[in-house]
Amino acid sequence: MSTFPDLVARIRYVLVRTSHPGNIGSAARAIRTMGFQRLELVSPARFPDREADALAAGADEVLATAGIHVGLVDSLAGCNLVLGLSARRRGVKLPEISPREAAAQALAAVARGEQVALVFGNERTGLENDELARCHAMVRIPSVDDFSSLNLAQAVQVMAYELRVRMLGDNAPVAVPVREEVPADAAQMEQFYLHLAQMLEDIDFHKGREPTTIMLRLRKLFQRAQPDARELRVLHGILADAQRMASVSREDDERP
Ligand code: SAH
Repeated sequence: MSTFPDLVARIRYVLVRTSHPGNIGSAARAIRTMGFQRLELVSPARFPDREADALAAGADEVLATAGIHVGLVDSLAGCNLVLGLSARRRGVKLPEISPREAAAQALAAVARGEQVALVFGNERTGLENDELARCHAMVRIPSVDDFSSLNLAQAVQVMAYELRVRMLGDNAPVAVPVREEVPADAAQMEQFYLHLAQMLEDIDFHKGREPTTIMLRLRKLFQRAQPDARELRVLHGILADAQRMASVSREDDERP
């Protein structure tokens, strides 16, 4: 049994397009030794498979409960933080962090009640750009430049180890912060952006300019802030008041 059941349940290891079933077994063993349980497989070449069972070396339950998905997006359902492991930088501009920083970020997120995915690529090709584009950050194990690629299951082990160390050191069960508000979900954020856009129209903020760029910039700002539902209610209140004032001022202007 895991020492940190609540935290562990919110962390999933996602293996994308794995070629060798032996690596799936070894990865299952790697995560099980560090107290984790949840494995998600995206389009594995062969699974279930005898080689996976053999290399899992008793981590049978991890394999038995592994989710199998057609696409990466399905495997990430409900995740608030997605970290992609990659040996080398790709075309996608993402913040690059170490496994240690990744562990700190992941555990801060799960302590707030969020769900986290650690995503690992195919043995030969790694994570594709469109897969990395779904990640919030890229995690690079600091290997040497001229031989940077670890075996898949060993990369899983390094990440799982860093999470385990961090849990034992800084996140003992008693020290887990009381559950704070979770960040608003995508639908709530969308509703807020709609209201914000409407309010900017009402106060004639754009003055004939094209609103797309400024709206993207504002989205970036509020995404970074990760407001919770209560904070969004305050923002909605401010927007509604601004709209009310704009309409009062319009009525004044229209009065003869
Ligand atoms: N040639 C591929 C290597 C894939 S190794 C590439 O350059 O990406 C299979 C997977 O193991 C990778 O997709 C990644 O998730 C993980 N991995 C291997 N070496 C890594 C490293 N140094 N840092 C982070 N992840 C690594």
